[in-house]
Amino acid sequence: MKLGTALIQGRQQVAVLIFNDELYDANALMTALGDSAMQPLGRIAGVRGLSTIDLIENESTFLLLAQALEKEPGSFANARLVEKECRLIAPIPRPAKNVFCLGRNYADHIQEDNDSRGMNTELPKYPQFFTKPPTSVIGPDEAIVLDEKVTRRLDYEVELAVVIGRGGRDITAANAMDHVFGYTVLNDVTARDLQRRHDQWFKGKALDTSCPMGPFIVHASSVVDPHDLRIQLYVNDELRQDANTSSMIFKIPQIIESLSAGLTLEPGDIIATGTPSGVGYAMDPRQFLKAGDLIRCHVEKVGTVENVVRPAPSSD
Ligand code: MG
Repeated sequence: MKLGTALIQGRQQVAVLIFNDELYDANALMTALGDSAMQPLGRIAGVRGLSTIDLIENESTFLLLAQALEKEPGSFANARLVEKECRLIAPIPRPAKNVFCLGRNYADHIQEDNDSRGMNTELPKYPQFFTKPPTSVIGPDEAIVLDEKVTRRLDYEVELAVVIGRGGRDITAANAMDHVFGYTVLNDVTARDLQRRHDQWFKGKALDTSCPMGPFIVHASSVVDPHDLRIQLYVNDELRQDANTSSMIFKIPQIIESLSAGLTLEPGDIIATGTPSGVGYAMDPRQFLKAGDLIRCHVEKVGTVENVVRPAPSSD
């Protein structure tokens, strides 16, 4: 089952469940089901409409809705959104905090980085974390803006992202997967010139539109093994990245244990798990994103998120 956010008629954001490629308004599903067990969320639904975070925090309600929909989709025809009036945006359009990310989590990516810079760094002994701000998040089919006044070396990185369900602190690796709500696809768009110039990753990773995400969150129950998923990225029709999440250096349980040590994770927190080899700056000759490029990020069983690169509007 999949959870996402749709924009209706360009204005109203609603949480949606996706079944058989059809979008169902979570509020309307809840009304149709009318189960008293849903009272806490029912009140929210009546006041301001449900968000994906509401359903992530109340996973049992999400599962009730999902199971009812899967069992008898015909009973919920009134909750189905007509496609031409709505489109999916980022599943969590405005995260409550920065998106957590891992750098250098695939050995082949570390090797290509070493090769491109004539260096010989070792594999990390501990996860290397950085973050991307909420303002960097965009959804499927939204433009990645290339502002050449700011960067001339914009690059891509396809990643599997984990969405935290139950929050916690000091989560052990043994319990970590119980805290995972689901997975989505994330493109860690990076301005390589800023990343190098500032000698720290944040600035080059944090520009507006540099965190495409989506198209939805696939519930963890639908992904048997998140460490055995093909992960690919195309620029236009050229396959640039093609790997398997089995190659991650730090697996999801270790990542969650390390990140949550002394740091509270909350429902809806997002953790991007790093990118494999094939990034543009390590190619020979180097390739950076150009206006008009179509970037397609795909993770098996999780989804595909596509974005076109557009030039920044002229300030003249
Ligand atoms: Mg990355």
